[in-house]
Order: sequence, then structure tokens, then C-alpha cells
Amino acid sequence: MFFTENRTTTDSFWDQSAETITPEDLKALQLHRLKSVLQTASRSEFYGRGFKEIGLRADSISSLDDVRKIPFTSKQDLRDSYPYGLLCEPKDRLVRMHVSSGTTGQATAVFYTRSDLEVWADLLARCMYMAGARPGDTFQNLTGYGLFTGGLGFHYGAERLGLLTIPSGAGNSKRQIQIMHDFSTSVIHIIPSFALLLMDVMSEMGIDPRKDLSLKIAFVGAEPYSEEVRRRIEDFYGIKVYNSYGLSEMNGPGVAFECRCQSGLHLWEDAFLVEIVDPKTLEPVPEGTYGELVLTTLTREAMPILRYRTKDLTRIIPGNCPCGRVHRRIDRIRGRSDDMFIIKGVNVFPIQVEQVLMNIPEVGNNYVIMLRREKNVDEMIVRVEVTDRIFVEDMRRLQQLQKKIAHDLKGELLLTPKIELVEPNSLPRSDGKAMRLIDQRIT
Ligand code: ADP
Ligand code: ZN
Repeated sequence: MFFTENRTTTDSFWDQSAETITPEDLKALQLHRLKSVLQTASRSEFYGRGFKEIGLRADSISSLDDVRKIPFTSKQDLRDSYPYGLLCEPKDRLVRMHVSSGTTGQATAVFYTRSDLEVWADLLARCMYMAGARPGDTFQNLTGYGLFTGGLGFHYGAERLGLLTIPSGAGNSKRQIQIMHDFSTSVIHIIPSFALLLMDVMSEMGIDPRKDLSLKIAFVGAEPYSEEVRRRIEDFYGIKVYNSYGLSEMNGPGVAFECRCQSGLHLWEDAFLVEIVDPKTLEPVPEGTYGELVLTTLTREAMPILRYRTKDLTRIIPGNCPCGRVHRRIDRIRGRSDDMFIIKGVNVFPIQVEQVLMNIPEVGNNYVIMLRREKNVDEMIVRVEVTDRIFVEDMRRLQQLQKKIAHDLKGELLLTPKIELVEPNSLPRSDGKAMRLIDQRIT
């Protein structure tokens, strides 16, 4: 049992001793938990076999650096072991299952014991409290419930914290806005693409959230987004946006979260051991350098996952955070290594395109990148919604905007994509994570 009700909650901290633990005590705790999780993991078929092959045992680990004796675990390993290959507990100790949303390829299953759920809820309460949510707040959870971890994960965290929790789920824009209005919602959890969509719906309904609603805080995550999108959301709703990062393989949300300083996401190092590696060599990169985030669960019972290659690209932000939390911060996720596409020899992350687009006020809240191959020549088309219908009818302004977007994108990407401007709300939207890239090239 890792979860304790004996925490001290203060004005600033949900769990003061856990959040302000000294770096030495944190390291000792991590080492202790790493050994213990290794022991637990060896009960699973996957790790049991793997450890035996290389002669790895809990007593092989005598320092945190010894984590490197443990082989990496990849998404493919989880797929190959689907559904029960990583399970360490008998079925009568399991109380929940989720699956990853399957953004890329086949989904994978994750199991939780009661203690796993307690720890997870407590981590999320810690996150939300850190960002300023307090009992008395009304919390509306606008993400999919069900197999996606964002719904139930935040739900139980919010109830533990003592927020009035409204499980409004994904979609249903107008009803969401009605609920926000009728129950004076002050805190929301929402994915960035839905936050952008709701802005358009509110504008159409003539609602000014700054005047007509009581929103204060939004937890925004589950998919990559840029600083520019954060600013748009903050400006429109008149709120503070805090970045929320997690993945099903590591419980779900609650892995790393922004504090009120909004300068990086504290990764809860008492629950996860963090490494940043070069995705090609798999060697650790120096602190401050971008690489692939690799995580080890330190408290999980049902399904510990060791040295999991998240494919997410980020870096550790050097230095201490003024908020006083010892847990190190990761930077905004640049994207997954699988999101990167290569066009005409240039490596591009969709987020780079977003950054440029969202800095241009005439650009609306939705866009899609299309890659095509015409007569053996690759072509990149960026289809962009404009903010104002008149644009599409005013040839001169249209051409000016097209030129500006192409020029700014060339500055960032060093290649000139074709720009197509379309009317507001005309690009397809999904209830879940946004599909920003359509690659039609036959490879
Ligand atoms: P799937 O891998 O099928 O999408 P998940 O729902 O577990 O399943 O999604 C986790 C992934 O979502 C992360 O690995 C990461 O790529 C992305 N993600 C989650 N939160 C953020 C965030 N705040 N910023 C950027 N990407 C995020
Ligand atoms: Zn901080």
C-alpha cells in the first residue's frame, strides 16, 4: 500500500511532505520502490521470462543508475503480451481496466488494483490542488468517460479533492455550455481541440465566457498543443490553462502537471522514475536536452511497467521551480516521435505548423495538414479555417492571408506548403483526440 490518508494539506500543497521531500529522501524512496516494483514485475509472464534470461533480480539494483540494467519496454511488447502478459496480480485483486486510446495502432490493456486506483486518484488531486482548484469549486469534466483514462482518472481525483464534480463527458457542445452556465462551473478538464471548438460554438451562440460564465481554471492535455493555443484559450475564456500530461500505460493523466508558475510540468517522481534518452542510441541525454521520455512505475501493483518508451519528446527543465516542489519539470511535449513526418527531406512536427498558424489572428481554430504524392513529388497542403466568413469571399484579403501563412511557415519549416483557406467550422472535428495529419503518400 503506497497511499496514505495521513497527508498534511496546506494552502499551497495537497500533500506537503510528498511534494517538498528533499532530493536525498526522494532518491532513497525511489530506490526502495524500484527494487520493490522489480520484484512485483517479475511475477508477470513477460518480465519474469525477460529477467530470467538476463539474470536480473531485485538485488541486482543497488543504485538508481542500475535502472539501466533493466531492458526497455515498448508499446510493441505490450501488444505482444496482450491482454494478460504483464499482469502481476490474480484476477480477484483487480478492480479496473482501461485501454489506451489507440492513437497509433492496436490498443493495449492496463489493469488496476484498489491501491493503484487510490494512488492514481491521489496524484490527480495533488495536480488539481497545485493548480489552484479547491473544495467549493465546481469541476466539469469534458472528456470521454469509458476506456479513455482521462474521464474516470480526473473524476476520482476531483472527488478526492472535494470538488463538486460534473461528469459531463465529451461532445455535446451546447449542453456543455448550458451546464457551465447553470452550475457556475469554475474548473474544467478538456482536450485542446475541444476547447478550441467550444470557442467557435460560444461565439456563434453570442456567449462571452468572461461575462456570462464563472470559469477560472482549465486543465488541458491528452494531446500535444502549442503555447499559442494555450494563449488563445486563456484569452478567450479569461482563465488560466494548466498543461496535463499522462498516458494509459502510466495510469493515465496525473503523471506530470503544471503548477501555477506555468513553466513546465512537475513529473511526480515518487510515483515514476524518469529518464530522457536519445531515441536512436537510447543513451541518456544531458539534462536540458530534448529526447524521448522513458518512465518506470514505482508504485503500481497490478501492472508495473519498467523503462517504458513513451515515444513522447520532451526535456527536463534545469533548475528549481519557484513553487518549492522538488519534483523535476518536463517541458511541453513536442510531439511523439511517430508524429514526425519527412517531406522533401525536411523533418516536421505538426506542432511547428500549429505554432505558426495560431500566431496569426485571422487564422481560426482548426486546421489539418495533408501530405500527397503527385507524379513522384511530395506535396504538403495546409488547410486552415479562417476566423471570418468574409475572408473566403474577399479575394484580395484571402490572397494576402495565404501569402502570410506560407511565408511564416517557410520561416519555421524551410519549405513552402500550399495553403488552402476554408470557412469557419468547415473542417471535420472529432469528439476525441484531433487528427491533424493526413498522410496520403503511398510509402
Ligand atoms: P494513446 O497512446 O492511444 O493515445 P493515451 O490515451 O494513453 O493513448 O494517450 C497518451 C498519449 O497522449 C501520450 O503518450 C502523449 O503522446 C499524448 N499526451 C497526453 N498528454 C499530453 C500533453 N499534455 N501534451 C502532449 N501530448 C500529450
Ligand atoms: Zn512549480
